[in-house]
Amino acid sequence: TPVIDIEGLTKEYGRTVALRDVALRVEPGEIVVLLGLSGSGKSTLLRQVVGLEAPTSGRVRVLGEEVPSLTGRRLRALRSRVGFVFQQFELVPSLTVLENVLTGALAELRGPRLGLWAYPRRLKLVALGHLDRVGLLDRAYQRADTLSGGQQQRVAIARALMQNPEILLADEPVASLDPESSDQVMALIREIAMDAGLTVVCSLHQVDLALSWGDRIVGLRHGEVVLDTPASGLSKTQ
Ligand code: ADP
Ligand code: ADP
Repeated sequence: TPVIDIEGLTKEYGRTVALRDVALRVEPGEIVVLLGLSGSGKSTLLRQVVGLEAPTSGRVRVLGEEVPSLTGRRLRALRSRVGFVFQQFELVPSLTVLENVLTGALAELRGPRLGLWAYPRRLKLVALGHLDRVGLLDRAYQRADTLSGGQQQRVAIARALMQNPEILLADEPVASLDPESSDQVMALIREIAMDAGLTVVCSLHQVDLALSWGDRIVGLRHGEVVLDTPASGLSKTQ
């Protein structure tokens, strides 16, 4: 059964149609790249998956739940099963790397105000394990804002792993990074997904990165799905 099953999804903001009759079905373990220019609807689609906004019409079923119908505790429960990585990393700059990772274990908003002392030793060990996984164990006690962009995004990935998510959503995770860091971050997302059997939906605007790192490319244009194909079916030289 698909982990994400979207049908007839339309989202309008006033007179702007951000998504028009979108269908998307994602099977467990797939690595899907949403490819499209700025404004094509990628962020809007990812926000729908975690119920950040109500759809104008259509069905959004994620991990067996009808997302638009969820509220309160059931919505939080769904979100805890879906990790989210953002273009601008969204770390707390003044906290250490380890504290930032630990905030991923908490319900939204309470996190950043807690110091290290507030977390059980068990969670600290888990967080250190995730930092090791993303290659930044040696930075655990540095302030987050002393790290490069690529390193900060790896910290954000470690933070997302704290919930043990089944799905990882990444909204333009490498748009602020140089080409080398972009490749490192995409490689890491791919490795972690394969190891953990995570399903990934990652938005990108660069065709070359999409072809290198996606299993499947879903092209969005003006809010419509205009392409849905295995990455292997597209040649990089075309
Ligand atoms: P992308 O992520 O591909 O850049 P977006 O999903 O951010 O695209 O935007 C799709 C369209 O919807 C754009 O025209 C954008 O201006 C519009 N849009 C997105 N979010 C909002 C919002 N909160 N209010 C009004 N318009 C929005
Ligand atoms: P992205 O391309 O990743 O969506 P944007 O810079 O377009 O990033 O959007 C950043 C935020 O602004 C998003 O939360 C989006 O919903 C909101 N937004 C985008 N376009 C509009 C718009 N036309 N009117 C109001 N809010 C918008």
